[in-house]
Amino acid sequence: MESSAMGTGNPEGLETQVDDADTLEAGYTQAHRFYEWIGLALAASSLGLAAFQALGYLDAGVLLWLIAAFAGAAFADLLSGLVHWGFDTWGSVDTPNVGQLAIRTFRHHHLDPKAMVHHDFVETNGHNAMLSVAITAPAALVPETIGAGPTVFLFWAGLLVAFTSQLHKWAHMERPPRVARWLQRARLILPADAHRGHHTAPHDGGYCVTTGWLNGLLDGVGFFRGLERMVTAVTGVLPAERERR
Ligand SMILES: [Zn+2]
Ligand SMILES: [Zn+2]
Repeated sequence: MESSAMGTGNPEGLETQVDDADTLEAGYTQAHRFYEWIGLALAASSLGLAAFQALGYLDAGVLLWLIAAFAGAAFADLLSGLVHWGFDTWGSVDTPNVGQLAIRTFRHHHLDPKAMVHHDFVETNGHNAMLSVAITAPAALVPETIGAGPTVFLFWAGLLVAFTSQLHKWAHMERPPRVARWLQRARLILPADAHRGHHTAPHDGGYCVTTGWLNGLLDGVGFFRGLERMVTAVTGVLPAERERR
């Protein structure tokens, strides 16, 4: 089968690394953990300040808060799908910068889905916390400039982006905390049954792991296959061989 691993030009090298879950797990370094701590510290500051600023708009009304929270959660779900699809589909553990930092964890998760259940809070949430800072910063720093709706929206989007891996982890746990089970039953966060499909080869759907709300729509219209065709048309790069993910 044709395959191309972006950044390696060496499908054999990809094969030897991706086939070994222990090798991928061992790629978790002290430097990586330090990066995650920085992400958590920055996210705590930015998210905390964004929450404070959003609460300043409590008088904007229940409807605005409901719409902004729903839109923020849907946006976080879409972003989780795009990021997850990107790291599942393109590149390899040898890709510069993101290979070890991000792609490694996604490929490892397919080989050993339960491993993430044993990751502590820092390893689970550090990456997404760092990503969430870019979302919450405008709400934290310039709430008057962007106004009530965007401030509340960015707070909720940032909160859910920061904890997406926690929600994903709960979907893999036999017995998640009671509050998680309640939120899963209410379909407010990713339920285990909604995520199961992604862990069946060839792992080519169900990429959204925050609330899972968008999976039916995006998979139904072939959104990610269309994106893959677009990327291939523009760059000439083929998706990584799907069986290996
Ligand atoms: Zn995946
Ligand atoms: Zn999973």
